[in-house]
Amino acid sequence: MTIVEGKYNYYYCTNTELHPNGEVIQIRTTEENPRCPYCGAVMTYGRYWGPLPATQLKEAKGSPYWWVRLGDVAEYERFDTLEEAQKHVEDATGKPFSEAHWINKYGFTLGPYQGLNYISFFEGDEEAQPTEQHLYGKP
Ligand SMILES: [Zn+2]
Repeated sequence: MTIVEGKYNYYYCTNTELHPNGEVIQIRTTEENPRCPYCGAVMTYGRYWGPLPATQLKEAKGSPYWWVRLGDVAEYERFDTLEEAQKHVEDATGKPFSEAHWINKYGFTLGPYQGLNYISFFEGDEEAQPTEQHLYGKP
């Protein structure tokens, strides 16, 4: 645990059942040990990298496509909707999307795709360039 006084630190709260849209809340603040603005619990220090509720993976304006790459040697595949992209991942892995373990804002591990062979999954433009940091409710 590294709290730097006077600097911004990240905190998160995973009491999703107590949040208005069932989301994981993440905030960036100079306050130490802040309480969750929705449920009042003392928040956990650090960035959140765990699985996110599907409700939080909403499509953002200005990001026309969802891009998926199954492992580090596959090609990027383009989808028009989040639902299609999620179904593709579930069909390819035989696992429910809800078991995805996010390792960064661009992808997750699931089923046979582990470690550096993870699944890329993000919103992006025609060139497969990410256009939205969609994983976090609050930057
Ligand atoms: Zn909370």
